[in-house]
Amino acid sequence: MHQDHYDIINIGASFAGLTLAHHLPPHYRVLVIDKKPALNYYVESTGLVTQATRDMLASFTNVDRFIPNRITTIGVVAPDYKKMFFSHTKEPWIYSTDTPELVQHMSETLPNNVTLQLRATFSDVNVDREQKYPVEIRYQQNGEQKLVRVRFMVGADGSHSQVAKKNQHLSQNTKFLAGLEKVFFGDITLGEHPKNTVYHFWFGAFSLGYGGWLSPTIVKGKPAFRLGLAKLKKDIKDLEKINQFIATLQEKNMIRIEQGTEEILTFGSLIPIGGPLRNVSDKHTLLIGDAAGLCGAFAADGIKGAVVSAKVAAEIIPEHLEGNARALSEFYPRIQTYKSLMTYYRKQQLYRLLWNKMKSNRTFEALFDIIARQKESFLHQFCDSKDRNSSLFWVIVRPGSILHLLKYSWFLLLDMIRQTKKETSFHKKPI
Ligand SMILES: Cc1cc2nc3c(=O)[nH]c(=O)nc-3n(C[C@H](O)[C@H](O)[C@H](O)COP(=O)(O)OP(=O)(O)OC[C@H]3O[C@@H](n4cnc5c(N)ncnc54)[C@H](O)[C@@H]3O)c2cc1C
Repeated sequence: MHQDHYDIINIGASFAGLTLAHHLPPHYRVLVIDKKPALNYYVESTGLVTQATRDMLASFTNVDRFIPNRITTIGVVAPDYKKMFFSHTKEPWIYSTDTPELVQHMSETLPNNVTLQLRATFSDVNVDREQKYPVEIRYQQNGEQKLVRVRFMVGADGSHSQVAKKNQHLSQNTKFLAGLEKVFFGDITLGEHPKNTVYHFWFGAFSLGYGGWLSPTIVKGKPAFRLGLAKLKKDIKDLEKINQFIATLQEKNMIRIEQGTEEILTFGSLIPIGGPLRNVSDKHTLLIGDAAGLCGAFAADGIKGAVVSAKVAAEIIPEHLEGNARALSEFYPRIQTYKSLMTYYRKQQLYRLLWNKMKSNRTFEALFDIIARQKESFLHQFCDSKDRNSSLFWVIVRPGSILHLLKYSWFLLLDMIRQTKKETSFHKKPI
């Protein structure tokens, strides 16, 4: 079988794989493969990016062409759908993207040293250290087996990385949220600035694990919206409740689906929420993006991690190939230099721990009441925590909120006791 040779192969052509391909030095021959038949078909993401991520993307793509909505407001809706608050900023704090077209554009503007192959599914890898190109990659393309030899391989293949699975030295994601999203033509009719607002729905018991979201977009020049639901993976079967969620929003006149149209698109995927993985590299391999667990465990935001880790990878892989034995161990420390992103992930794990303990509507409502009291500063803190390493903690823990905080803590404790009772009765052996 004919074997091609490349310096580097990226498995996966989404935010992580394509950002890396844009940043590797031009003297390297780079191959990027992806199993998708086309990159603008869909990307498993709502595609909301923060200001810092938009700026990073803008340094090498025309990202602004693919931003239909600039988001200045967040709307948070309590479990009863009656209580809600809106928090505004003057400048956009987040941007909605036409994600499939943005990713397509990133692939069309790749530099000349990069070859992209689609419908190409990575299947196996062998390493022979004696060879100049030590890594032999096997993949399937259009039903044909293909082989290439490379000096270095990158797993940018998402939360269920096959690259990680095939390498016993690397860690794999084990904790996930299951997310499901539907896209419709139509309008959001809730709040004063629906074209510039993203909405979080806290349904408490209805949606343990994460909640629902609604976000405006434009598809083929027409107003549209994305509507999603995410739950812990163990409750994946409950994602079918998304239809109940849609029906409730229609009944309450919060959305209007264009008459005579069905959803334009439905997609689902697993989001890693276990935090950055322990072992993400060996001598010939590096995991980046979701494959490395670089996703907010609470907010489930992974585009920033994909872009930042790819930019860092583009610095350290050449250093490694040029003989710096410590270069790959610089991966996480250098990611931390991007506005303390590793600290952000640690905080996200703490928030996740707390959120997972909340089991009833009343606990979610109690938390809602605390945050609603701070709605003026909420979004500012929220943006800060995403881009500037501030903290949501200080929205909740305020001297003026002490009674509400006690109420919340009490409900949280009751949820935890109830859960422990449930678990012990579940584990009782039948007599
Ligand atoms: C419903 C949902 C909504 C989300 N919304 C947001 C959001 O609004 N903002 C945000 O920041 N994050 C969001 N995320 C998370 C975000 O989408 C991911 O963190 C981000 O896409 C990770 O980028 P990546 O390049 O690492 O991996 P991915 O985007 O998962 O890309 C992996 C690529 O690898 C390819 N691939 C996989 N296996 C193989 C194989 N064996 N061979 C060849 N190719 C392969 C896939 O086809 C894919 O193109 C959301 C996730 C979901 C599921």
